[in-house]
Amino acid sequence: MFDVKKIRNDFPILNRKVNGRPLVYLDNAATSQTPQQVINVIVDYYSNYNANIHRGVHALSQEATDKYEQARKKIQEHFNIGKSHEIVYTSGTTHAINLVANGFSSFLKQGDEILVSAMEHHSNIVPWQMLAERTGTILKVIPMSLDGELEMDAYEQLLSDKTKLVFCNHVSNALGTINPIQEIIDKAHEVGAAVLIDGAQAAPHIKSDLQALNVDFYTVSAHKMCGPTGVGMLYGKEEWLNTLPPYQGGGEMIAEVTFEKTTYADLPHKFEAGTPNICGGIAFGAALDYMNAIGFESMSEYEKELLDYATEKLLEIEGLKIYGTAKDKTSVISFNIDGIHPYDIGTILDKLGIAVRTGHHCAQPIMDFYKIPGTVRASFSFYNTKEEVDILVEGVQRAKSMLL
Ligand code: PMP
Repeated sequence: MFDVKKIRNDFPILNRKVNGRPLVYLDNAATSQTPQQVINVIVDYYSNYNANIHRGVHALSQEATDKYEQARKKIQEHFNIGKSHEIVYTSGTTHAINLVANGFSSFLKQGDEILVSAMEHHSNIVPWQMLAERTGTILKVIPMSLDGELEMDAYEQLLSDKTKLVFCNHVSNALGTINPIQEIIDKAHEVGAAVLIDGAQAAPHIKSDLQALNVDFYTVSAHKMCGPTGVGMLYGKEEWLNTLPPYQGGGEMIAEVTFEKTTYADLPHKFEAGTPNICGGIAFGAALDYMNAIGFESMSEYEKELLDYATEKLLEIEGLKIYGTAKDKTSVISFNIDGIHPYDIGTILDKLGIAVRTGHHCAQPIMDFYKIPGTVRASFSFYNTKEEVDILVEGVQRAKSMLL
């Protein structure tokens, strides 16, 4: 039995009220809440061993360095990454993707092709467009169906020996679709293209084995998986990370500096310029410990139950349409009601203490595809309950009766 009551006790924020009502937090795809166990680690860091890392001989610096590097090992174990120096701490997925896109501008040339999926977050589109502009590379789009699934036949046809790079999210933040990334990776490798998978939305729900996937790059943001904001990781295969040039210059990323020439540090420090989010990295490790103690399998089974229940209940509301009905999806429901702007529904839900996201969810091309201005997105985590789903459904019904 998945003990959601016990789990909820770990999250102090779930006890608060919003607009006089108990908070119903259904914006987990934007950011997840933080359990006390992770908050304690953050408090402990600033209370007891706050210091800069990797360079101090003093005890606090050693302690902070050890904990920060232990967290890297936890990330390595969690994602089954071959070598810990294949993990670069970043400020999150956006930073990680920009790092790779910047690096690829050194070896892409006019006429090379790069492929993006039709259901990407802006952070997995814009850096590549900037790269394409700089290099004359051609950006092509893997289309999707009305169900919100990628058209894999079209993908195969787009691949050729001109394709240098494919980038795609593991899970769509706007629709919840789980993409067939193993097939995407394998097919790209057949033509010699590298693959970057944006794992920001998958990592909170799916424990991925990055060695088995044989992916070239994988990105994660800690704040979507019970960790703090401003920290995440870029996984890159060692040979790729050795090939890519550094992204930012500064302290920490050098071997030797003179005014004539600088040589760079070994991996992963070559990509970790400046003082990092030390506390964030340590707390990221603690968040992985927390989630693994509950278990990803039982969490995702429970989330699937919530998803199915919420889908059934919401569809009972006349005029409500769900976008993204893929067979494989995470616990995200993007919907609209005929004749009502999503923002108006979100505003009324907020008055009722229910937090959802409204708008284009940083995925405007998806909204253009469906010819809508945006959606209301309810995204469920393992600490949500069926009672909260009922409150959402009642709230949506109420919004509908007020607005129509
Ligand atoms: N990709 C996806 C699929 C996302 O959902 C998000 C966050 N909404 C990002 C990338 C960007 O993540 P971050 O803002 O943490 O860099």
